[in-house]
Amino acid sequence: MEIGERCDTKEDAPERGLIAKKAEYSVKFIDLQGQFTAYEAEIREQIDAVLKSAQFILGPKGAELERLLASHVGAKHAFGCSSGTDALLLALMAYGVGPGDEVLTTPFTFIATAEVIALTGATPVFVDIEERTYNIDPRKIEAALTKNTRGIVPVSLYGQCADLESILKIASEYGLFVIEDGCQSFGAERNGRRSCGYPQVGTTSFFPSKPLGCYGDGGMAFTSDDGVAHRISGLRNHGQWERYRHRAIGINGRLDELQAAVLLAKFRHFPGEVARRAAAGARYSEALADVVTVPAIAPGNTHVYAQYSIRTPRRDELAKHLSDNGVPTAIHYPVPLHRQEAFAHLGYEEDGFPVSSAVSREILSLPMSAFLSREDQDEVIRQVRRFFGK
Ligand SMILES: *Cc1c(COP(=O)(O)O)cnc(C)c1O
Repeated sequence: MEIGERCDTKEDAPERGLIAKKAEYSVKFIDLQGQFTAYEAEIREQIDAVLKSAQFILGPKGAELERLLASHVGAKHAFGCSSGTDALLLALMAYGVGPGDEVLTTPFTFIATAEVIALTGATPVFVDIEERTYNIDPRKIEAALTKNTRGIVPVSLYGQCADLESILKIASEYGLFVIEDGCQSFGAERNGRRSCGYPQVGTTSFFPSKPLGCYGDGGMAFTSDDGVAHRISGLRNHGQWERYRHRAIGINGRLDELQAAVLLAKFRHFPGEVARRAAAGARYSEALADVVTVPAIAPGNTHVYAQYSIRTPRRDELAKHLSDNGVPTAIHYPVPLHRQEAFAHLGYEEDGFPVSSAVSREILSLPMSAFLSREDQDEVIRQVRRFFGK
């Protein structure tokens, strides 16, 4: 594919495909309509206030959301961004990452994590994942370090934090920055701290299907480092810290007021939703542990199940059986990044990351949301068990 050619890069394209075919499914993959119905009055009230104020960019809703969410994750500063991707890009830009630099991450993530590293001109360097959590394996980090390594971007995949203590220890030994890609883990806890508030910088996404989603694109960058905060604040607004004085090359990377308004309405319900997601995840795991590999929650972690993903060597057959029986599924992710055409120039071997490759062949995400009804979940469970003859 040529650069600039139109393509659908959203990871949730399969889900959008499913929404289009919805009539064939009796269960929803993510029940966003149910959520809207439940909060409709509050969401409309918030949106109305923005429309009446006619303040659409960098106004009071965004500022209120930044205060609330910074305090929620335990970070000193928060910056609403135009997407999770831009929040990651801005974090890298704040560290001045560029050509000649290397930044470590895993090949088992959504493309955005490595894409932004490449966009700065730096080189993404992949490190394989742990077999149980699917997050970066800290034991494999040191072998990937060179004199050009500037930082590490651990992904807290599916909704539980990576092993941030081990990663931060290596980072401080070698003078590296750590940016947590918390695009799937907003709300997750690790050893009493929250995702995005843990390392130097944490970023999250408010893409509609994420645990805390808006009605368009949105994201946030969190940090307790005043210097990094200052740089992100201007870089996300065209490199301006003072109007029409451009001291650096920045981007248009701001969250807008309408999305902030939607998020303010939804955030009031977020702790309850996180609890319901955890309960639904636990229920799946209890019912399916004898037939598939269910998600392992690392000690000290809570899981927000941005995806509830199981593993089985019979993945493709199971997905077909479920689809034939009204249960939508998705694969996060079918092709590890080192085998993507966009990264062919990095020159990795096909079998360079055996754990990522094995997991990409066996992983399957089941319907999950805070609005997954008991009946629908029972149906998913029944169909999975039936496939295995149980
Ligand atoms: C969704 C996601 C992103 C990008 O977020 P957008 O808001 O869609 O730009 C980055 N990393 C991971 C792991 C994600 O799941």
